[in-house]
Amino acid sequence: MDLVQVFSNSGDLAGNNRRLHFCPQCGQRLHQKTLAKFERQRCDRCAFVHYLNPHPGITIIIRSREGKVLIGRRSERSRYGGRWCLPGGYIEYEESFIDTAHREVAEETGLKIRIDGIVNVVSNHLDDLHHTLVVVLTGQQSGGILRPGDDLTALRWIDGEQHKEIGYAFEADRSIVDCYFAGNIKILPIDPGAEQRLA
Ligand SMILES: [Zn+2]
Repeated sequence: MDLVQVFSNSGDLAGNNRRLHFCPQCGQRLHQKTLAKFERQRCDRCAFVHYLNPHPGITIIIRSREGKVLIGRRSERSRYGGRWCLPGGYIEYEESFIDTAHREVAEETGLKIRIDGIVNVVSNHLDDLHHTLVVVLTGQQSGGILRPGDDLTALRWIDGEQHKEIGYAFEADRSIVDCYFAGNIKILPIDPGAEQRLA
């Protein structure tokens, strides 16, 4: 049960489904150009480059006092609907990853949390449209009332035995929960000031 940092599904990961036809700055048709060994689209008129980057997000192992982990079932209308995942989501431009953790946990679970630290960072190439860079945190409930929300339709606390039976949406989630129940995670503390600034 070693920590794993890179996950890649088979299939095309060239970003072809994220390409644009026209410059978002000036409307000119974009052209392919090789930049730092990658094919990117560039505007000949205004020099705009359409870079392709992963989308940063967070996910979090919320631990109960008994050492259980909170997971949620994804709604049928979401990708991998009906499967289970750790709470989490994409970081909005105005947020720190810590802000995102508090917001996503509140939206998806109804809980307030204390974040204890970082346990992993993951490159997750899901498919040609979805490449995420995920900071995996851990924390514990500090308030709130458990209630599924946003894209989650159910929540459950699982122990190490129940974990083995779960159909996870993301291999990265299964992997880090494996490590947690195997007692094989270390916690990199976060700046306590970052938590206080939110208060
Ligand atoms: Zn342009």
